[in-house]
Amino acid sequence: MKYFIGNWKMFGVPKSVNILNRINSFYAKDKNRNKYRVIITPPFTLIESFAKYFQRKKILIGSQNCYQKDFFSSDTSAISPYMLKSVGAKYTLIGHSDNRAEGDNDSILKDKVKFAIKNNLKVVFCIGENKLEKKNKRTLSVLKKQLIKVLESKFDKKNIIVAYEPIWSIGSGKIPTKQELQKTTTHIKKVLKNIFKKKSPAVLYGGSVDGNNIDMLKQISEIDGFLVGGASKSSKKFIDIIKNYYR
Ligand code: PEP
Repeated sequence: MKYFIGNWKMFGVPKSVNILNRINSFYAKDKNRNKYRVIITPPFTLIESFAKYFQRKKILIGSQNCYQKDFFSSDTSAISPYMLKSVGAKYTLIGHSDNRAEGDNDSILKDKVKFAIKNNLKVVFCIGENKLEKKNKRTLSVLKKQLIKVLESKFDKKNIIVAYEPIWSIGSGKIPTKQELQKTTTHIKKVLKNIFKKKSPAVLYGGSVDGNNIDMLKQISEIDGFLVGGASKSSKKFIDIIKNYYR
């Protein structure tokens, strides 16, 4: 199973459901539809209405983050995995570099993963090196550390997807070379196999994915799908990625 996940970030109002309607119409008719899953992570404000609207359709709704506590608490503005599940979210991103930059450290991320899984949310755990780490050839060690500090064998791997998103690539139009990506995804899967005893969860690539560079990205067999930011806000651009992937 491949994954095409659209991360809307701070984008969208109720009428933006039209974008998802167009993606859903494409998906419903696509002969390849059994080979992949479409997940959209809109802002918190749209999760409930979108999840209800797409309940009987194939698009699944997730959140872009969740709080590191179960159930209810006295933390102002926090939204727990329990609350997300109760309004129909099926997935949650955890560890996006935007949230790491705002203070999400390994211990917070571990709690987020733990409580998300406890509440039956599937976790898309994001990792990635920054520009300086890449320049200093520390990519592989940084990724390994981000994985082993948070993921544990007791988390069921069926509930986890890892998204490799180099920070320098997000929103920049630049992506790693084919050779670099082959090396990093193989490395990530090796680390994951060690954590999860033999079998790796799915590993996605994210960072400036579009309908053109997907031609190169699809050649890397280790990649199980894509986390798409900017291009997921346009139904045409998002559909082009899927169309070109299966072309
Ligand atoms: C992201 O922020 O998760 C992302 C992949 O963004 P973009 O596709 O715009 O680089």
